[in-house]
Amino acid sequence: MLRKTDPLESDRAFLIHSLHSALEHEAPHLWTQGRGAVLVDADGREYLDALAGLWNVNVGHGREEIAQAAAEQMRTLAFATTYAGSTNRPAIALAQRLAEISYPTIRRFFFTSGGAEANESAFKTARWYWKIAGRPAKQKIIALERGYHGTTLAAMSATGIDAYRQMCGPPAPGFLHIESPYPYRFAWQPRSALDRRTPGIAAADLLAEAIEREGADTVAAFVAEPVQGAGGTIVPPADYWPRIREICRRHEVLLIADEVITGFGRTGDWFGLARWGVEPDLLTFAKGVTSGYFPLGGMGVSDAIAAAIQSAEGDNRWMHAFTASAHPVGCAVALANLDIIEREGLVERARELGARLLSGLKTLEVLPQVGEVRGLGLMAGVELVADRETKTPYPAEFKAGQRVHAETQKRGMFTRLRGDIYNLAPPFVTTSGQIDRMVEILGESIAAALG
Ligand code: PMP
Repeated sequence: MLRKTDPLESDRAFLIHSLHSALEHEAPHLWTQGRGAVLVDADGREYLDALAGLWNVNVGHGREEIAQAAAEQMRTLAFATTYAGSTNRPAIALAQRLAEISYPTIRRFFFTSGGAEANESAFKTARWYWKIAGRPAKQKIIALERGYHGTTLAAMSATGIDAYRQMCGPPAPGFLHIESPYPYRFAWQPRSALDRRTPGIAAADLLAEAIEREGADTVAAFVAEPVQGAGGTIVPPADYWPRIREICRRHEVLLIADEVITGFGRTGDWFGLARWGVEPDLLTFAKGVTSGYFPLGGMGVSDAIAAAIQSAEGDNRWMHAFTASAHPVGCAVALANLDIIEREGLVERARELGARLLSGLKTLEVLPQVGEVRGLGLMAGVELVADRETKTPYPAEFKAGQRVHAETQKRGMFTRLRGDIYNLAPPFVTTSGQIDRMVEILGESIAAALG
C-alpha cells in the first residue's frame, strides 16, 4: 500500500467521514489543537468554536485535569467487564453522582458509548418494561418531526429528519412522528371558535391524538429532545412539556427525554426539562457528560423501571449490553468533567452567557434576512429567510446557510447548520468578549453573503 505523506491526501484515501461528502470535503479543516472556546487548524488559524465541537465540549478545550484523570485511570485499570458479576469504582461513583444531579425520580443508570446507543437502550428498555408488565403489544415509539436521536437503525427510525432515512431505509417498524412544537412554523388553526387552546397545548395534543389513533395498548413511549438541537434549535412553548407529561401519564406511555444536547448545563439547568418542572421516565444523555473528552453516554431510568430491572431474572432479564458500558476511563473522565462544572459554577455561567448571546443575536433581527432568533440557555439558532413577512425560505439550491457559513469561516468562526438555520452552542467557558465577537461575525457574514 502506498504511504502518503500529505495528511489530507491520506484522509481522502483512507477515511470515511460522518455524513461523508467528497464535495463538502474539498478543503477540509485539519484541526490540531483546542484551547477554551478556540480551535486551531494545521495552518495555525484560530476559529471560535461556536458549537462547542458537536454541542459537547462544554467545559472547553485543553482541560489538563481531565487528561490527568484519563491517564491515571488507564494506568490503574484501563478496562474490565461490567457485565453482571463485575463492576468498577469510577462507574459506581459516576452513577451515584448522576443520581444526585439528575431528576429526583431518576436514580439508576446504564452507560453506553454515545447518544445513539443511549436511545437504542431506552427504546429497548421501554419495550422490555411493558413486556415484563404483561403488556407486550405496547411497542410503538412516537417521536417528533425535526427530532434528532442518532443514526443507528432504531435511532435513525426515531429521527424526524427525512434526509437521514431516505437512502438507508426502510426504518425499523413501529416508529412514527408527530409535528414539532416549532413556534416559528407550527401551522395550527383553531378547530372552531370554541377552540381556545394555545399553540403549545395544540402541539402537545397531537401526541394524545396519535396515541388514541394507534391505540394506547400499542404505544410504548414518546421520545423527544427538551429543546430540539440538530433540527434547528427549536424551543417549545412553555406549556408544551407539562401537557406532554400529563398525556403520557394518562395513556401509560413512557416519556423518554433525549438530553444528549440539553443535559449537563446546556440549557442553564442541569437537565432540560427542569425548566418546565417536568420529569421523564427515561433520560438519555451523552456529549456533555464527558465534554467530549471520551465517548460516553447512557440512560437513567425511573424508580419503577429500575425496580423492574432489579427484580427480573432468568429468561425475563434485561437482555441488553455493550462491551464498553461503564468504561472505567470514560467514567473517570466524566467525574473530572463534572468536578469542573460544579467547581466553576458552569451551569449558572451557561445561563448568563446564554442570555448575553441571545440578546446580542436579537440585534441581528434588524437584518431583512433574519426570520427569527431563538434560544434557551447557551443554545441559540438564527433562521435565515428569503422573505421575512411571509417566512418564505430561500430556495434549497441557493444554499443560503452554506454561504453564511463560508463567510463566518473567513472571519474565524465555525459551527454546523441545519439548512438555513445557524446554530450556536459555544463552550460554557467562552468569554463575554468571544460571545460578542460571535454575534459580530454572524452579522457581518449574513450581510456579506446575503446582503
Ligand atoms: N440525540 C441527540 C439529541 C443528539 O444531538 C445526538 C447527536 N448529535 C444524538 C442523539 C446521537 O448521539 P451520537 O452521535 O453520540 O450517537
